[in-house]
Amino acid sequence: MIKQLAYYGAPILRKKSVPVLVIDDPVRALVADMIETMHAQKGVGIAAPQVHSPLALFIVQFPLKGEEKWVPGPIEVFINPAILEVGDQTLIASEGCLSIPDIYEDVPRPDHIKIRAQNLEGQWFERSYDGYDARIVFHENDHINGVLFIDRIDKKRRKMIEPKLTLIKRTKN
Ligand code: ZN
Repeated sequence: MIKQLAYYGAPILRKKSVPVLVIDDPVRALVADMIETMHAQKGVGIAAPQVHSPLALFIVQFPLKGEEKWVPGPIEVFINPAILEVGDQTLIASEGCLSIPDIYEDVPRPDHIKIRAQNLEGQWFERSYDGYDARIVFHENDHINGVLFIDRIDKKRRKMIEPKLTLIKRTKN
């Protein structure tokens, strides 16, 4: 089922998520709904707070490497994620967010991340990502901590987009 998105200004986007204690049918149903919602919105990632759930989980779907056009790769599920390592280098690239529509801004992010999380079967895994993939994982993991990409942009830019943010807050939720 496609879920209603939480948009900028929704309190759930600013809360720290709560751990998933049991991976049961409701959690599996939530993940299925998140996948459907992400696809409907043409996103490459979505976190539980964006569909009004307080749980610490997110999903990503990177494009397959080496393809000329955008071909979606496998969906990766991160439950109870924790960052283990971040790269020393910072890369700046444009980012957007399903919860902050039509705003794209340059965001500095480490070039590398190593993350630990559980999959839908409850097994713990550790995985490393670089470049744009790392960026997506950082962005989604931020949602689990109540952080949005606009918190990480240049202060002047943030001021400039404030009217647009206010409009989203007033009209979208
Ligand atoms: Zn986002």
